[in-house]
Amino acid sequence: MTNSGSSTDVVICGGGVIGAAVAYYLGKRGVRSVIVEADAVASGASGAAAGLLSPPPVAGDGVPPDELRRRGFEMHEELAETLPAESGVEFAFARNRRVAIAATEEQEQALRAMAERGSALGRQLEWMDAAAVTALCPWIDRPGRGGVVGEPAGQLDPYRYTLALVAAAESAGAAVRSGRVTGIAQSGGRVTGVEVGETTVAAGAVVVAMGPWSIDAGSWLGTPVPVEPLKGQIVRVRSPEALEPFGFTYGGDYVATKEDGIVFLGTTEERRGFDNGTTVEARDSILAFATQFSSVLGEAELVEQTACLRPLSLDELPMIGPVPGLDGAYVATGHGRQGILMSPPTGRAIADLIVDGETDCLDLDPFDPARFSEG
Ligand SMILES: Cc1cc2nc3c(=O)[nH]c(=O)nc-3n(C[C@H](O)[C@H](O)[C@H](O)COP(=O)(O)OP(=O)(O)OC[C@H]3O[C@@H](n4cnc5c(N)ncnc54)[C@H](O)[C@@H]3O)c2cc1C
Repeated sequence: MTNSGSSTDVVICGGGVIGAAVAYYLGKRGVRSVIVEADAVASGASGAAAGLLSPPPVAGDGVPPDELRRRGFEMHEELAETLPAESGVEFAFARNRRVAIAATEEQEQALRAMAERGSALGRQLEWMDAAAVTALCPWIDRPGRGGVVGEPAGQLDPYRYTLALVAAAESAGAAVRSGRVTGIAQSGGRVTGVEVGETTVAAGAVVVAMGPWSIDAGSWLGTPVPVEPLKGQIVRVRSPEALEPFGFTYGGDYVATKEDGIVFLGTTEERRGFDNGTTVEARDSILAFATQFSSVLGEAELVEQTACLRPLSLDELPMIGPVPGLDGAYVATGHGRQGILMSPPTGRAIADLIVDGETDCLDLDPFDPARFSEG
């Protein structure tokens, strides 16, 4: 084996949004990193996600990912102000309103109750009947029984946002290296680098951020990294007429207007291993969902259909923190359906841990990777 480079402090395995955020926040702390990426930066879910930055759900108040979502939301607002200028990359951050639609009486009752709970917690959530929803957003012309309209939610182009994080990290000394990590070099209970085929890239610290492929690192680290791919498909359409910027959700499905007249329709949740092909069935069910609530979308031209893989951990909570029993090794993965939203606090927390050994960014206890090693 050859040794390549000894001056890099941190090697980040994986150039998705999580690896990019770690590199960005390490750069802020004056630490050089190398992102080793097997394909291309943002070639996985990070490049093809919907890019919706939803405030924490009312029902989720108090549960562990809630704080991570809340910090993510706040930090995205800050990054929207600073990152485009820092990186030279625009990523179409916008704030749009959305309505959560009820099609049945039971759903209406549940949404009304949610709006009341949310209002009591100081959230801006208002139940509107169907006519009021359509008056607010004319292209949602079949909004079932009505829905709950919330405070504006954020959204961005996740591909360009990931590129922006990487570009800003590069200007702070980071580098991207093409290659597939195949192992982690270690000596005396400490990491010394990562193996990329026949080469060892030296490092004082290593961060595993390989999305659903992070499961491969379990055998390298000697501790389980139980993430699995949860496939999701999105259909992009272009409306013949300019649409009011708005969005709607129905259960886990969503429609969101984007820039340039494009509308994102999603999604599916499929357990098909690492298969990331698109299917006609998914396209048809997504189109049926969207046109159920908007006849205008029935006139839209289909532009593209994509599929990609969310990294979902065994208990559906992210894994963010040090690897037990191996000094200098960290895991940052398992962000499932909201990795774009959660990327800033994850990146900052890992950078803090590497530099200071602790973080005040968020309570990492619920996300401790060691929870899967302890029985
Ligand atoms: C349809 C869909 C819609 C979504 N919408 C949203 C949304 O609206 N909002 C939101 O917040 N989140 C959303 N997500 C979730 C979000 O996309 C993911 O949580 C996030 O992108 C995960 O980022 P990651 O960096 O962990 O993984 P990835 O993006 O998968 O990146 C991992 C990288 O590691 C690389 N890699 C793998 N193995 C190796 C190796 N051995 N060596 C080197 N590199 C390797 C891969 O090539 C890849 O580039 C959505 C996901 C899907 C599927």
